[in-house]
Amino acid sequence: MLISFEGIDGCGKTTQIMLLKERLIRERIPVEVLREPGGTELSEMIRSLLLNPDVQMNPVTELLLFSAARAELVAERVQPLLQQKVIVILDRFYDSTVAYQGFGRGSLPIKEIHHLNKIASQNIEPDATFFLDLDVDTALQRRMSQSGAHDRMELAGGPFYERVRDGFLYLSKTHPRFVKLDANLPAETIHHQIWQRVSGMIH
Ligand code: C5P
Ligand code: MG
Repeated sequence: MLISFEGIDGCGKTTQIMLLKERLIRERIPVEVLREPGGTELSEMIRSLLLNPDVQMNPVTELLLFSAARAELVAERVQPLLQQKVIVILDRFYDSTVAYQGFGRGSLPIKEIHHLNKIASQNIEPDATFFLDLDVDTALQRRMSQSGAHDRMELAGGPFYERVRDGFLYLSKTHPRFVKLDANLPAETIHHQIWQRVSGMIH
């Protein structure tokens, strides 16, 4: 089973992924968490290029690097784990590319991004995608209180994040696998909603 988590930076993905993972471990269900971009040696190298604030990059290059990191992750880790019946939790997947490189950057055709996503992911699709929806101002405040360092992507301002959020909202309306959650709610409440859904898929 493949489960992905999506949302703008600061929405609380990492917290929810940790809570879900702990819950699955308590239930003795094999689980692996992988992050995008990253999760393999090569993909982590690509990640450091993508996030380095000193690196200048054309939007097409950015799209292809995210896709390259994804191709490697899917082939080397995700597919083998799914074959072993491990539940794979992805901290972002190709929906982030539609939202960030597509809606966010605004210069690349969405239809072609979908096509590239299929190639990079070998056509696999999550069984459920939890989208933690949060307004851009609250997300920014949370990020400021969390860490001082900013990655290259986070250099983009508020309007960029508004477009990214619109991208996720669009995807959540057009893809039934999306579960949209209110990221303003307490973490335990959100976890309960996620667990209801996941336990229903397992049992
Ligand atoms: O979720 P995480 O913080 O690990 O993501 C790393 C950075 O890459 C974030 O700033 C995120 O917004 C960005 N990103 C992106 N496009 C993607 C995936 C992540 O711009 N497709
Ligand atoms: Mg982050």
